[in-house]
Amino acid sequence: MRVIVLGGGVVGVTTAYQLQKDGHEVVILERQRQVAAETSWGNAGMIAPGHSFVWSSPRAPMILLKSLVLKDQALRFKLSADPRLYSWSWLFLMECTAEKARRNTLLKHRLAAYSQSVLHEVVADERIDYDRNGRGIVYFHRSQQALDKGVEHMKLLESDGQEIKVLDRDGVVALDPALASARDRIAGAIYCPTDETGDPAKFTRGLAAKVVERGGAIHTGTTITGIETAGDAVTEVVTDKGSFDGDAYVLALGSYSPLIAGRIGINLPIYPIKGYSLTIPIGNRPAPPTIACIDEHNLVAISRFGDRLRVTATAEFAGYDTSHKPADFSFMKGVTEELYPEGADYGRAEMWAGLRPMTPNNLPAFGRRRLRNLYLNTGHGHIGWTMSHGSARITADLIAGRKPAISMDGLLN
Ligand SMILES: Cc1cc2nc3c(=O)[nH]c(=O)nc-3n(C[C@H](O)[C@H](O)[C@H](O)COP(=O)(O)OP(=O)(O)OC[C@H]3O[C@@H](n4cnc5c(N)ncnc54)[C@H](O)[C@@H]3O)c2cc1C
Repeated sequence: MRVIVLGGGVVGVTTAYQLQKDGHEVVILERQRQVAAETSWGNAGMIAPGHSFVWSSPRAPMILLKSLVLKDQALRFKLSADPRLYSWSWLFLMECTAEKARRNTLLKHRLAAYSQSVLHEVVADERIDYDRNGRGIVYFHRSQQALDKGVEHMKLLESDGQEIKVLDRDGVVALDPALASARDRIAGAIYCPTDETGDPAKFTRGLAAKVVERGGAIHTGTTITGIETAGDAVTEVVTDKGSFDGDAYVLALGSYSPLIAGRIGINLPIYPIKGYSLTIPIGNRPAPPTIACIDEHNLVAISRFGDRLRVTATAEFAGYDTSHKPADFSFMKGVTEELYPEGADYGRAEMWAGLRPMTPNNLPAFGRRRLRNLYLNTGHGHIGWTMSHGSARITADLIAGRKPAISMDGLLN
């Protein structure tokens, strides 16, 4: 079959790779000059099944409400004239019961853990260098009370097979001596030794090169403007560089998927949630982090990709605006400098902002809607790099009419 993949982020490229493995001819359409140039570029690079908790939790409505009046660094929710914000928020609030949060978290963890196993297969087969660090992720807390709560909370993922270790502050510093000067500000951590990190854009571009080597086509600088249909099928994808037709199509446009799907009457509740990141060269600084961490108090994530740090923070409802200014980064930069004063050349930080494609229940959309040859693989939210590899395999399985390796109960909606 000839399959047209709409979007060259990590989801689109991993999907094309898995489809090619199944023997299909693949064509990726991407508007940027390279693949992985939007959200898949600047994320924290965490492959983090241990971070599978959904944002739509019973605490979320109060957090959202508070952010309307308090100037919160982690969450910025502003009222706007965008009706999509309100319809999405309503659906999100409907997912915030304890029962749904538990169910959605376990579904997400199932997908994330499976996805990590698919990633390992791809890494073993393709030997892509993407600055992988397989030492786990440290989720640390600044008070004993918060740590105790975190450990209790984590029991849900532990019951689903997630390996965890609880560390006191000395245990944290023993794991990463670069945190020594912050020792007294850390109460302890939940350490997920099987979580890992790696540069998502380097990986995606490396994988895209393999797809091209094997005969796949990637049309960059190609903006999709519409989809043509006849009866119950897509007939072609219309772009500013002409039309592309195939036997099947995969929608993997991240936050932009609902804009294109909406033109053919498919309503996808995906809303962009903006996040910010800094990429900071380590330079000649003597004490860079050796393992990734999340400061759970400040909700700042810090990863090391070889010779640079990636720091991410903030969930902001700003529509499709990806602009940023230095003040947006001062909090996360301050937190990182406080934790690792000798960790990087902070004066040379590169700023970035991107959009998490969030669904109300934080689970991606798979499968078909109205059209028999259009498959969805989109809406991967805040851990899309983690879930992309398994999602790609699942999409290839669905296109082949094969049963995916994990149960799709609750995932295929
Ligand atoms: C600050 C931040 C930190 C994050 N940290 C992590 C993390 O540590 N771990 C993790 O697992 N996930 C993380 N994520 C989430 C992760 O980055 C996303 O879920 C993932 O990148 C989504 O991939 P995607 O391919 O769906 O979207 P994208 O990467 O946005 O890809 C969609 C592609 O479609 C293209 N496109 C859109 N419209 C058109 C059009 N009309 N025509 C042609 N092309 C088009 C875009 O150019 C883009 O390349 C983070 C996200 C943010 C913002």
